[in-house]
Amino acid sequence: MRPLAFVDLETTGATATADRITEIGIVEVDADGTVREWQQLVNPGTRIPPFIEQLTGISNEMVAAAPSFAAVAGETLRRLEGRLFIAHNARFDYGFLKNEFKRLGVDFRAPVLCTVKLSRTLYPQFHRHNLDSLIERHALRADARHRALADAQLIHQFWQKIHVDRSSDEIDAALAKLAARPSLPPHLDPGIIDDLPEGPGVYLFYGEPTESGDLPLYVGKAKDIRKRVLSHFAADHSSAKEMALAQQLRRIDWIETAGEIGALLKEATLVKQLLPTHNRLLRKNDELCTWTLVDEGEGWLRPELASAHDLDFGARTSCYGLFKSAREAAEVLRALAAEHNLCDALLGLERTAPGKPCFGHQIRRCKGACVGREPYARHTMRLVGALARLKLAAWPVNGPALIREGDEAHLVDSWRYLGTAKNDDELDALLAAGRPRFDRDTYKILAKYVGRMIPLSSQRAVPPGE
Ligand SMILES: [Zn+2]
Repeated sequence: MRPLAFVDLETTGATATADRITEIGIVEVDADGTVREWQQLVNPGTRIPPFIEQLTGISNEMVAAAPSFAAVAGETLRRLEGRLFIAHNARFDYGFLKNEFKRLGVDFRAPVLCTVKLSRTLYPQFHRHNLDSLIERHALRADARHRALADAQLIHQFWQKIHVDRSSDEIDAALAKLAARPSLPPHLDPGIIDDLPEGPGVYLFYGEPTESGDLPLYVGKAKDIRKRVLSHFAADHSSAKEMALAQQLRRIDWIETAGEIGALLKEATLVKQLLPTHNRLLRKNDELCTWTLVDEGEGWLRPELASAHDLDFGARTSCYGLFKSAREAAEVLRALAAEHNLCDALLGLERTAPGKPCFGHQIRRCKGACVGREPYARHTMRLVGALARLKLAAWPVNGPALIREGDEAHLVDSWRYLGTAKNDDELDALLAAGRPRFDRDTYKILAKYVGRMIPLSSQRAVPPGE
C-alpha cells in the first residue's frame, strides 16, 4: 500500500489566496499500516471572523500564542512528503496549503485524492457527499466536528469503511479513474493543472513572449475554471482551432470571481483590453452610436445620432439601437422609414427646401408630414412606434449602482462596468478612476441584472468626496 496522508485544515475563510490557515490536522498512514496523528494550531496573522470562530470553535484567543505557518511549515512538509494527499473537497485544503507554502517561496505539490469525488464514484446512487452525509451513511464516529484532526480522522474512517464495503479491484478502478490526467498541450507546465481553481472566474491563455509581454491567445469565462480549461484539451472534441490553440499555449493565468456576473463582466473587459488572437472578433466600439430624439417643437421629434464617446450615452431615457457606425444607423432608420411610411425629410435623412415635399411623398410613400398633410405629432407617434423594438433599457437608478455577488460588489454606472470591490476603500478607488467608454457587451450583460442593482447612494451614509 502506498503511504497516505489524510488532511484537514481550519481557516479564517473560504478564499485560499486571501484567507489563512488556523489549524492543521493530519493522519499519516505508512505503507505498513502504521498510523500517526498530528494536530497543530496556527496563528493566521489576521483576525478570525466571529462566525468562523463559532463554526470551528477556534477563537482568536486560542491562536494568539500558536506558531505561525512559517514556523510549522517544515514539519507539515515532512508529514506530507511522499504521500497521497487525501482530503474532503481536496482542492480546498490543497489550495490553502499550496498558497501558504508559496508565501514562503516553497512550491508544494502532491498527488491529490478527493474523498467527495471518491464517494461520488463509489456511491453514485446518493446525491449528498458532504462529511455529515458520510458520517450518517457509514456510521462514522465523530468527536469534535470542524476541528482539523477530528475531520481528518473521519476521512480516514471513511477510507477504512470503503475497504470493508468494496473489493480492492473496485476501489483501484475508482482511484485510477480519478487520477486519470487529461492530455495537456505540449508546451504547458503540467503542474498548472493542480493550481487551477474549481470556482468561477476568467482564464487567460498566453502564447510565446513578445516585446510587449506574452501574446494573449484567448480569454474565457467559466463557472468552474479548472473544468473549463481542461475541456479545451479534451481529446474527444478537439477541433482544428482548439488544436492550434493548444500548440501555441505556453502559460495560463486566471482571475477568480465571486460568481457568474463578475466573470461575465471581466471577460467582456479583458477581451477588449487584450484583443486575444483566438477570441471571435468582437465589434469595435470606436464608432458605436445610437439614435436619440431631439425636440424641434410643434410635436416634431427628430432622430439624432449620439456617439459612444458621449459620457451620457446609455444613460438617457430614450436611446434606440446600438450601431457600429453612423452608416449602419442611417441604413436601419431608412429601412424603418420605408416600412412605416415615415417622412425622410423629418427624419433628417433627406434635405428638402421648407414646404417642399420629400422624395417619398412624391412616390406616395411618405404621408406628407413634410408638406403639412400629416400633423408632426402624429408622425412622431408613428416614428416612436416604429423605433420601439430598438429601444435600449433606461439606466434604472440615479447615479452609480452596486451589484452584490458573494463577498464582492460590482460597481456600475450608466451601463459601464467600473470594476469590482471588496471594501469601501477599493470602491472609492474605482469611483476616482472614472467611467470607461460605453461597451455593447457590457450593456447586454448588465441589462440582464437590472433587478439586482442597488443605488450606490443608498449604500453609503457619506457620499464620496464629502
Ligand atoms: Zn415627406
